[in-house]
Amino acid sequence: MRFCPRCGSVMYPRMKDGKLQLFCPRCGYVLNVDDEDVEAYKVKRKVEHSPREKIIVVEADKAPSTAVLLKGQVRCPKCGADEVYFWMMQTRAADEPPTRFYKCKVCGYTWREYA
Ligand SMILES: [Zn+2]
Ligand SMILES: [Zn+2]
Repeated sequence: MRFCPRCGSVMYPRMKDGKLQLFCPRCGYVLNVDDEDVEAYKVKRKVEHSPREKIIVVEADKAPSTAVLLKGQVRCPKCGADEVYFWMMQTRAADEPPTRFYKCKVCGYTWREYA
């Protein structure tokens, strides 16, 4: 988990032109990650994968305190609202990318997206 150096929000990884970037959904800050950093990032995720996470996975549909409110970026597939909470969670093997969760602020509909 990395935090935006500008606004302190949780940043999430995305692929751009074949390169991994960390992207801040709140202020749009983009951090380019070189190959060494990618390895460091993966190792860090493995270390973070503790038995405690399994308890969190059971409650995966509840937005954690680290959830970020996205406005105008994602639409709820159920009611069409564009204010949606976003967070990521490791639900599979530690070396797999984390699952992205979204929860509609308006109707509470929660869905997930595998990276
Ligand atoms: Zn930011
Ligand atoms: Zn909704």
